[in-house]
Amino acid sequence: ALNAAWAESWMRASAADMAENRQRLIDLDRDIGDADHGENMDRGFSAVVQKLDADGTPATPGDVFKLAAMTLMSKVGGAAGPLYGTAFLRASTAAGGSAELDAGAVVAVLAAARDGIVARGKAEPGDKTMVDAWTPAVEAAQTASDAHAAPAEVLAAAANAAAAGLAGTEPLIARKGRASYLGERSAGHLDPGAASTALILQAAARTAE
Ligand code: ADP
Ligand code: MG
Ligand code: MG
Repeated sequence: ALNAAWAESWMRASAADMAENRQRLIDLDRDIGDADHGENMDRGFSAVVQKLDADGTPATPGDVFKLAAMTLMSKVGGAAGPLYGTAFLRASTAAGGSAELDAGAVVAVLAAARDGIVARGKAEPGDKTMVDAWTPAVEAAQTASDAHAAPAEVLAAAANAAAAGLAGTEPLIARKGRASYLGERSAGHLDPGAASTALILQAAARTAE
């Protein structure tokens, strides 16, 4: 069930994945940015785990997302901190006070997160940002939910689409964030923020199984 225990597991799995992929995210960001994305994400999600350890499991998934939002906003820094902070804050609002998310609620949570990132960063699909992982994820989640998939299957569809979205950032020319300073030289590299988004959504799906 996609309850508070699942949401906590999702955050803990994301933290483990950020630690494991720290160097990979740093290397991706070195190619088209300032080589700190792995450090930023690892620091932020470690802080989320510390907060969960200190506070215990929050009552609802929405409370877990709110804890994550506040912590990521204050600890990640850079462009990604406010973007992921806004994403999880909107996700928290979309989850409301529900004890458990059904398939429709999963779609609402993912769509709210994506919309928050777009509202904050003003990137459009194709600008070579994390939006290029979130947008296909939301679309795939909606399609799966419309086809009456179970909540865990909706997350799996979102995770697969995010991975494909990440791969699709490689040929793109960056139009937002630091990578945009490189102009055409940003093409031929994966976007680091799309890579961290793919990891986060994969962790969501894995912990839902
Ligand atoms: P910084 O660029 O400040 O060092 P990070 O390296 O932590 O921050 O994050 C970079 C990632 O943030 C990029 O790979 C991209 O996915 C994302 N990003 C940057 N600007 C935007 C934006 N305006 N909208 C959406 N995502 C963005
Ligand atoms: Mg960076
Ligand atoms: Mg930076």
